[in-house]
Amino acid sequence: MRILVVEDDPMVAAGIKEALSCTGYTADHVKSAELAERVLRSENFDLAIIDLGLPQTDGHELIRRMRRAGHDLPVLILTARDSLEDCVSGLDTGADDFMTKPFRLPELIARVRALIRRHHSVTSSRFSYGELEMDNASHTARLKGKELELPGREWSLLETLLMSSPSVVSKDKLVQSLGGWDSDLTPNAVEVYVSRLRAKLSPAGIQIRTVRGIGYRLDEPVTA
Ligand code: CA
Repeated sequence: MRILVVEDDPMVAAGIKEALSCTGYTADHVKSAELAERVLRSENFDLAIIDLGLPQTDGHELIRRMRRAGHDLPVLILTARDSLEDCVSGLDTGADDFMTKPFRLPELIARVRALIRRHHSVTSSRFSYGELEMDNASHTARLKGKELELPGREWSLLETLLMSSPSVVSKDKLVQSLGGWDSDLTPNAVEVYVSRLRAKLSPAGIQIRTVRGIGYRLDEPVTA
């Protein structure tokens, strides 16, 4: 899962980025609405955290433009102005949730998690897929009742495929979702993660199908 952080305060942005990375999200940061619009045109994100008080174009206008351009990703707004009115107008503009500064990072992470789940119509932090069970809050997975080790990127890859299933996820989106700007992740590396996951999931009949020239799809688990 990849998150765009739009925040002009470098300290706040760094704190959010760090908290998101520690939770296993890929986070990329821009400091203006103009830059946010530019990257959203060409790259995929699963959620945006947008500060309302940005230089030049403000957060409200950015959200308005994003929605007009058809970007339907969940948006969490941040505001330093402790004004309910500001948050309400943000929600009216097309944001999905808000937080007022100062905020606690664990609460921000919990809200991010909830928004992503809601966006994918998953109602709980625990979900199962055939004999695979994942708990997003505790970051643990079990396969056929046994604990399943899923290091960072394998977890993110599986989460992205699961949330998108039964749709195909392009290899390009996976590279972005797993890597972000700070990494030198290549499409070949994504293939390596896919093959590791395949080996781990095959005992439960869960298959990651290659859709040639496009990407990967998680097939419905085969039940015996
Ligand atoms: Ca600001």
